[in-house]
Amino acid sequence: MEKKEIAKNILKRLMNQGYQAYFVGGYVRDQLLNRPTTDIDIATDAKPEAILSLFEKAVPTGLKHGTVTVIEQGLSIEITTFRKEGKYLDYRHPKEVKFVTNLYDDLSRRDFTMNAIALDYYEQLIDPFNGQSAIVNRNIESVGNPNERFMEDPLRMMRAVRFAAQLQFQIEKNTLRAIRELAFYLQYISIERVKIELDKIINANHPEIGIELLYSLELIRWFKGMIDGPLYFIDHGKVLQTINQTMDPFVRWSILFEQLNSTERNRVMDGLRFSNKEKQTILNIFKAYSIIQKGQKIEELKKCFIETNEDDCLKSLELSYLLGYIQKKELLEWKLTLSELNKQLMVRTLKDLKVSGKDVLEIVKQPPGPWIHDLLQELFHQVVFDGLPNHREILLQRIENLKEKVFDEG
Ligand code: ATP
Ligand code: MG
Repeated sequence: MEKKEIAKNILKRLMNQGYQAYFVGGYVRDQLLNRPTTDIDIATDAKPEAILSLFEKAVPTGLKHGTVTVIEQGLSIEITTFRKEGKYLDYRHPKEVKFVTNLYDDLSRRDFTMNAIALDYYEQLIDPFNGQSAIVNRNIESVGNPNERFMEDPLRMMRAVRFAAQLQFQIEKNTLRAIRELAFYLQYISIERVKIELDKIINANHPEIGIELLYSLELIRWFKGMIDGPLYFIDHGKVLQTINQTMDPFVRWSILFEQLNSTERNRVMDGLRFSNKEKQTILNIFKAYSIIQKGQKIEELKKCFIETNEDDCLKSLELSYLLGYIQKKELLEWKLTLSELNKQLMVRTLKDLKVSGKDVLEIVKQPPGPWIHDLLQELFHQVVFDGLPNHREILLQRIENLKEKVFDEG
């Protein structure tokens, strides 16, 4: 069954129980734009407990906000109970969620008019805030008074910028003015929520549009824990020229970080709560990048290649090319060198050695300890740098020799 049919069945099941149910949010917006979407949002007046009992595979993913995720035929669909934000709310006070019974109230708490359109089972649109005309005019426009809406939830300012980068819509004049005025409220928003939007900007079709807005609206100044941080001071004009010439998100991040020194870069990545894996990739890219940038010799790159991996080295080549450190011809030459290195270096990690820690123990006959790893490391080094063949017999022999060295000296 098609995705839409599955989702429609869910609407029908809710309706058969006497509930109202509509498609809402990004799903409706993207349908009107003929744009593919992954997640489907449904709004209903059924309470979370009712939804949970109605569907077999239902997970309370955000009960506090009235959200239940239903899984049907491998597709996950978010069903959210109609709600309204409490009376006066601001970023400092925890949001009080009030369930309501009418669709209008639910649509009116949504961020932008293009995101506040509902679609019913019979394909009728319910569009009290003229979201359709905003879409036709490619406008990102707050529902209601933009200043009030951004004060309620300052993350919406980041969302506006993110949608501009994803959809190439412009931010409507009053909405834009409100962001400019209220950018400093962003300091009250958890950096994790901000990072989600930043990732979407970096991955967008036009990241340069998002980056430009982050700087011109000064949102970049107010990231929690990083007020007036190092990113704020870079020459972002340079970033705009190159960032959309690659599709690779890590190369894009690297273009953004290129003007920072390594201390600043680490500070920014920690501040933005990069995962260890993300951080490692960026560190690898810059390690290889600085070698390429300095035009260093093959031995250097070889060492770096072993410490990192082929993918990240290729990313740093792309970065070097985009930033003008190497020409197309050199790019191809370096790529060739890398793939030859890759062939040469069949031994990439300790695990690729034809002997293991167990062999070492059997030969050396000493109580196990960190020395095993050190010894393997030494073997690895000799294979990679000194041309020692990766043959089991030869390596076993070499362990004998190293054994004397390790235990006579130690
Ligand atoms: P996408 O899924 O493409 O990232 P989306 O518009 O569907 O975009 P979601 O975060 O999935 O965004 O949220 C679904 C809907 O919930 C939005 O379209 C909007 O109506 C509403 N919404 C989400 N976040 C907020 C917010 N911070 N303030 C107000 N409404 C919001
Ligand atoms: Mg969505």
